Amino acid sequence: MAGAVNPTPSLCLVCRTVLGRGEPCDLDPRHPVAPLDDRDGRERVLAAVWGPPSARERARQLTRAGAGGGVAGGILEGLGNGCGGCGELAGGGEVGAVLGVLAAIVAVALFAVVLAWLIGRAVAAWQRRKHRLKPRGAPRQVDFRRRGAWAEGVVVGGPAIGSWTGEHDCAAWGVEVRADDAREGDVLLRDGAAAGFTVRLDDGRAVEVPAGRVRVQAEGEPPSSARERVSGDALSGQLGDLAGGEDEYERPIPGASAESVLIRPGDRVRVHGPLEPLATGDGGYREGAAAWRPAGVPWLTRVG
Ligand SMILES: [Zn+2]
Repeated sequence: MAGAVNPTPSLCLVCRTVLGRGEPCDLDPRHPVAPLDDRDGRERVLAAVWGPPSARERARQLTRAGAGGGVAGGILEGLGNGCGGCGELAGGGEVGAVLGVLAAIVAVALFAVVLAWLIGRAVAAWQRRKHRLKPRGAPRQVDFRRRGAWAEGVVVGGPAIGSWTGEHDCAAWGVEVRADDAREGDVLLRDGAAAGFTVRLDDGRAVEVPAGRVRVQAEGEPPSSARERVSGDALSGQLGDLAGGEDEYERPIPGASAESVLIRPGDRVRVHGPLEPLATGDGGYREGAAAWRPAGVPWLTRVG
C-alpha cells in the first residue's frame, strides 16, 4: 500500500480500520483487532469476512459439486449404446429412408445434448450462486458525531503526501475499500493519513493536525477533484496478496473498488472531538493556547 502509514498493520475486525501493530481501535477500544502480517491474525480476519473455516470449506465443496456437466455426458453415452440395432434396418434396401431416419435421430439427439448441456450449466450456476459466501464488511461512513463537538476551519499549506494509490498529492486522505456483493456492510478496509498541517478555525484558533493516521470522511458527495476511485487491476496491485489468490475464501480483503476522499490546502474541514493545547518545546503550553491539536487520532470531515 503505497500511501499506507503502517508498515505492519493490524485490522479492526468490526469497523475494518487499518491500525498500527498493537494499537487499539480509535472508534471503539473494545473492537477486536488482528494483525494482518501473521497467519493467526490473518485467519481471524478471514473468519470475520467469510465465516469460520468449516463454513468456508462447506461452501467450497458445494460450489465444486455444482460444477455440473454430467447430464450431457450421460445422454451422449446413452446415444452410443442405444443405436446398437440401427445397422439391421439397412437390410431392406431402402437405404435413403434409413438414412433419413438416422439423420432425424441424430438431429434430435444433438438437440437433446445441447439442451441438457444448457440446463446443466444453468443448474451449476444456480448452485454456485446459492452456496457462494458473501463477504461481511462494515457499514460505510462512521458517525463522527460520536466524538461530540467539532470546530470548522480551512486547511492552510504544509507538506504534501501521496494519496492512497500515490497518484495524487494531498494534505490528507481517507480510503474505503468496498466489496461488490456483501452482507451487513460492504467496507472491507478503511485507512487514512495526514501529511501534518494547520487548520485555521473560524474563531481564529489554529489546530495542528500531526502527520500520521487520521480518519477522513466527506460531507455529501465531494467534487471529483477531491476523490480517487480505483478498481480492477489497479486495486489488486494496491492490495497485493490481501486481495489475491486462487481461492477467494482465502482473501482477507476481497475488495472490488476503493474510494478515497482527498483534503488539500484551502479546503474547509471539521475537526471532531476535544482539542488540547499544543505543548511547547519547554514542556509548557503556548501563551494563551493559541495553538491546539486534536486529542487522539484526528477525525476530519471535508465540507463542501
Ligand atoms: Zn474498530
